[in-house]
Amino acid sequence: MGKPLIVGNWKMHKTASEAATFVQALQQRFPAALTRIELVLAPPFTALESVRTALGPSSWIGLAAQNLHWESQGAFTGEISGPMLRDLGCRHVIIGHSERRTLFGERDRDIQKKVRAALTHGLRPILCVGESLSEREGGQTGSVVTAQLHGALRHVTAEELATITIAYEPVWAIGTGRAATTEQAVEVHQSIRTYIVTNWTQAAVSTVRVIYGGSVTPQNIASLLASDAIDGALVGGACLDPESFATIAHVAESSHT
Ligand code: PEP
Repeated sequence: MGKPLIVGNWKMHKTASEAATFVQALQQRFPAALTRIELVLAPPFTALESVRTALGPSSWIGLAAQNLHWESQGAFTGEISGPMLRDLGCRHVIIGHSERRTLFGERDRDIQKKVRAALTHGLRPILCVGESLSEREGGQTGSVVTAQLHGALRHVTAEELATITIAYEPVWAIGTGRAATTEQAVEVHQSIRTYIVTNWTQAAVSTVRVIYGGSVTPQNIASLLASDAIDGALVGGACLDPESFATIAHVAESSHT
């Protein structure tokens, strides 16, 4: 497995000028580049350019978008395409976040088209999957996550799979302050790996990162990353403050030897 991946999902927070101030504050907390993790910021579309400029041309910190449309251009008012994101310096794109699924009605077949579009345009998908509280309590976690993977990843080749990160984000843990325990996350991460081995190959599973998201904080990141099954974190609330996001990154860096 490659370096752990730590992604900060800003959601709908920060204007372009606030974003530039944030990046300066973040960079001050990294006197030198971190080399044992990959750190990525996912600001809103409107702040991508300002974050890119603030990071500088050869920054070790990467840029992700939070969504994309599956077509590369056309009459899709209000949408943003893969080529537009590439042109802004994005290398990753979050796809199928639970907020997109529940608040904006994204279905597995939309997500599948977005994964395909990202791959076509050289963007690395960060595919989010995860069960709701009632699904977990109903013992459906495994079947829900498998169905989401199946819906999103059909027709993806083993070679393409190597560029994909799967973010296991239990919906009940997102923004609630109630993170999954390391054991709960590991159990689902292992079932995701089993799904990959079954549908692709044993070799494919070693190339796919499976990261955890849901109330990750500077306090719980070390225990999550202590497991070999957890290859990084998708961070929401705690990434909005430069101090807490930098702390998460430093802890991740020192936990990966
Ligand atoms: C997220 O939205 O992807 C997320 C994990 O949010 P939070 O860390 O705030 O739970």
